[in-house]
Amino acid sequence: MDGPAAAGKTTTCLALARTFGLRYLESGRTYRIIAFEALQREIPVDDAREITWLCDRLILESRSAGLLTSERYASDKLRETPVNVAVSAVAKIADVRRRVTSLIRLWAESQTQCVIEGRDIGTTIFPAALVKFYLTASPEVRAMRRVRQERAGTYENVLKDVIRRDDADMNRTVSPLVAAEDAIRIDTTNLTIEQVMSRMSTACRDRGLEVIRS
Ligand code: C5P
Repeated sequence: MDGPAAAGKTTTCLALARTFGLRYLESGRTYRIIAFEALQREIPVDDAREITWLCDRLILESRSAGLLTSERYASDKLRETPVNVAVSAVAKIADVRRRVTSLIRLWAESQTQCVIEGRDIGTTIFPAALVKFYLTASPEVRAMRRVRQERAGTYENVLKDVIRRDDADMNRTVSPLVAAEDAIRIDTTNLTIEQVMSRMSTACRDRGLEVIRS
């Protein structure tokens, strides 16, 4: 599942995981952990060498793919404004992306079936995924939903952050955010969560996934 910030990827991935009995991975969390640690250690996030070195240390400390699911970090800390800003710089470093890509592939190898959300899952990490979704919505609707769900600041500030991250993610050189050609694109601007889930569940069933809980 790929798509821009606040498009509803986490909500729908979790629902798919429940319905089809899949393990779930939020790949953005790893980029957020690296950005968070860089801020803590006062490492400039645009220093590619230093950030790559930090990434290597974190991977070593958490025994490889353990970094992806590390419980050392509270989600609300990883979602604070400084991390939201720093993460875009971290995510455009090619050497960091290579390492995170390897970790995600390693993690997925040990799962029977899984659902992963991110920006480059269907394009770069798993081009042969069984089902690919590209979830999007207008920036205004995404910002409004985030403000309602997370009380994440004023609408104006959240909208600015959503537009800034869209721009950074879509225009970086390495693995820019783009829909895979064979992804099922869903624009959720005027859809309810039930309508989105219904389309997704149908696509998953059509590809042979079995419902374990409706
Ligand atoms: O998904 P989330 O909004 O938490 O991701 C935070 C940031 O991590 C994104 O804005 C993007 O820059 C980066 N990211 C990425 N590739 C992924 C997942 C996230 O570049 N697969």
